[in-house]
Amino acid sequence: MYTVDEIKNNYKKMSDSQIEKIALFESKGLRKDVINILRSEIKNRKLNSDLLNWVNAETKAFKEQEIIELKNKISNLTCPNCLNNTTKLSGFEINKIISFLVYSKETNQKKVLCKNCGNKEKTTSILQNLFFGWWSRNGILATPYLIIKDLINLFYSEKISDRILVKMIEGNTGYFRMNGTEKEILSDFINKFNEI
Ligand SMILES: [Zn+2]
Repeated sequence: MYTVDEIKNNYKKMSDSQIEKIALFESKGLRKDVINILRSEIKNRKLNSDLLNWVNAETKAFKEQEIIELKNKISNLTCPNCLNNTTKLSGFEINKIISFLVYSKETNQKKVLCKNCGNKEKTTSILQNLFFGWWSRNGILATPYLIIKDLINLFYSEKISDRILVKMIEGNTGYFRMNGTEKEILSDFINKFNEI
């Protein structure tokens, strides 16, 4: 492991754009003492002060209780797909595989939807995989694996949902810290999350 002084020297040698990149995309994973080095580099170089605010927000991890509250707020939102709020929102994993001759492509998308919409999307993706997954050498091997995995996972849907929501919250600490967790903000966020 590098000593604090070694890290300090490394950071000093970096260009402004390297520091900006670390601040924007990697600050969450840094050790506390390294975050302090990053902070002082941003200050000393007089980089955009928003960067410092971002680093502060991004590295202020949510406590367990905060995550539970945020998860509750999210599951009580209106469904971004059917606009109903008859059932609570959950996290769904939509796996797709499409094969054609030598080509095969697998995608894995996480979505937050109501039970009806989520189950519909899951069923559609499983059926699509059954029809379109097989038609390449890779697909012949990958499709049954994916279909069986999806079918087994139906029994663990709550656990998977919880994992998706927690990962989504922890992965976007800075966004929520800076924008707040009002209903509108969360709805807007879920819409964007589902599009990725
Ligand atoms: Zn819905």
